[in-house]
Amino acid sequence: MAIETLTHDIAVIGSGLAGMRAAVEAARVSKGKLSIAIFTKTHAMRSHSVAAEGGSAAVLYPDEGDSYDSHVFDTIKGSDYLADQDAVERFVTLAPGELIQLDHWGMPWSRRDDGKIAQRPFGGHEYNRATYAADKVGFLEMETLYSVLQKFDCVKIYHEWYVTSIVRDGDTFRGFTAINLATGNLAVIKAKAGIMATGGAGRMYGFTTNGHSSTADGHFVAYRAGIPLKDMEFIQFHPTGLVPTGILITEASRGEGGYLINNKTERFMSKYAPQKMELGPRDLVSRSEMTEINEGRGFEFREMKCIHLDLRHLGREKILEKLPQIREVTMKFIGVDPIEEPIPIRPVAHFTMGGIHTDIDGATPLKGLWAAGEVACVSVNGANRLGSNSTTTCLVWGAITGGLAAQYCTSAGGSGFPVDAVKKEESRVFDELLRGSGSENPYVIRRELQSLMDKNMYVFRTGEGLNEAAKTIKALKKRSYKRVEDKTKEYNTNLLHVFEIEAMLEVAEAAIVGALARQESRGAHTRTDFPKRDDGKWLRHTLARYTPDGPTLDYIPVIITKHKPQERKY
Ligand SMILES: Cc1cc2nc3c(=O)[nH]c(=O)nc-3n(C[C@H](O)[C@H](O)[C@H](O)COP(=O)(O)OP(=O)(O)OC[C@H]3O[C@@H](n4cnc5c(N)ncnc54)[C@H](O)[C@@H]3O)c2cc1C
Repeated sequence: MAIETLTHDIAVIGSGLAGMRAAVEAARVSKGKLSIAIFTKTHAMRSHSVAAEGGSAAVLYPDEGDSYDSHVFDTIKGSDYLADQDAVERFVTLAPGELIQLDHWGMPWSRRDDGKIAQRPFGGHEYNRATYAADKVGFLEMETLYSVLQKFDCVKIYHEWYVTSIVRDGDTFRGFTAINLATGNLAVIKAKAGIMATGGAGRMYGFTTNGHSSTADGHFVAYRAGIPLKDMEFIQFHPTGLVPTGILITEASRGEGGYLINNKTERFMSKYAPQKMELGPRDLVSRSEMTEINEGRGFEFREMKCIHLDLRHLGREKILEKLPQIREVTMKFIGVDPIEEPIPIRPVAHFTMGGIHTDIDGATPLKGLWAAGEVACVSVNGANRLGSNSTTTCLVWGAITGGLAAQYCTSAGGSGFPVDAVKKEESRVFDELLRGSGSENPYVIRRELQSLMDKNMYVFRTGEGLNEAAKTIKALKKRSYKRVEDKTKEYNTNLLHVFEIEAMLEVAEAAIVGALARQESRGAHTRTDFPKRDDGKWLRHTLARYTPDGPTLDYIPVIITKHKPQERKY
């Protein structure tokens, strides 16, 4: 059957905050003259960004004490000095403009009594700079961007298309291949420029805040095309995952004054972060919770060890006004009303700090291809992201990459499209995967992968556990999971899941191998056998390159401008 060919100037993969912002910027810069397409494996408005709850960081009120320097320093210190400082400086400088721009586009930010946009405290930030709309920030930001996109006839959204590969011609990007999930047909997308905005990889874990769509697809597509993944060993554990499901209880609940309590009724953070208490950075708070649990000062809820998040002292009115979604979630999922009872929580896999290697402009090493949002590693987050920095990062690098891709299109020449690569991909999709002969149930493999990550790649790691993980993941890759029971073409979610499982296995392997090699503790990567940060050896970024036999690693320096690494105290 002939493969359909779609031609656009720019193809954006992903319709979360980063992808939508990139498309808007490309449309604006090109004044509607370029043809821009967004491909998304879900409906655009079901992208995971809608789940963001607590806030978007930016310095909005320098006249009230906040400053760019402070936001820069907090982010670098939070990153355990692994962030590239030039990227952090650019992020902080552009952040306010992005949030004001959203305001002008109709974003219903919560307001202070004086009518100005409201901001709340968030972990690791010295000032209240998490800009919010109750606890529904991501959904309302997405809705705002989606409405803006409707103004541009030059942008077409392909809902429910799954991108399977990047097509490159030497060192130049030429396009993608994708399956239209509705028909099951493979198509070629020819484009001068591409932007990967495919979100995080949190579903490599079983206990995670991430939705079922955050399956490392974009990481894998780039990795397989020869683009390195950077710092994949750094996975953020959010301190307040609802037990037993892992649903996020936003950091805003501590920002609004919630307490973390052990079974001795102590606010135990006084031992670990006496100044910041519950608003320490996430790596520190997660380690503190696990220390309390491991030393017998935790609770148990539905057979899971946990800590209590107590909001009761905030009072009914504040909880209803500032944290309505949290109350709805805890009541619906575990029957706990936080006005009356504490919430059982524990650290939960939440955010992928590493990602596709890019430079400060979001450009990947493949000419004509950019990456933005959670899938990209620019790197602003280093070894530990500060809460509320991600949504703003998506907006900032969405805008940067969208603008640069549009400029690039004016000079990029289209030429030979490597037909062989498409033929190979067709054979991979239909012969290797759809008609794959694996004997094992892929869902069993997925469950085993998630249990392995939950156990061996969690808050505290050891060489022994990581070695075991590295061996097990190789074995999981060998046991062929490429069995697709459902041979239907239309909406074959079974095939989709097999793609996603392959992506998660390969990307998890890059994370595990990177973690095993990194013999130090930095940010969210805590090795009990190497408990100290080692700047002499490890103040450097990991680059993992794909080979069919597993990743090879090499390293590049961290960019330091003003802030020499120091001990982190909170
Ligand atoms: C529960 C929760 C709450 C959070 N709250 C906050 C917060 O308050 N503040 C903050 O700063 N950060 C928060 N974060 C983090 C933040 O929401 C995310 O980092 C950010 O929204 C990611 O946006 P994105 O645009 O990079 O990707 P996403 O929004 O995840 O979008 C990814 C897109 O890629 C598409 N896609 C993926 N693979 C393919 C493929 N193969 N083919 C085609 N399309 C594909 C998907 O369909 C989707 O459209 C939160 C995260 C979670 C999980």
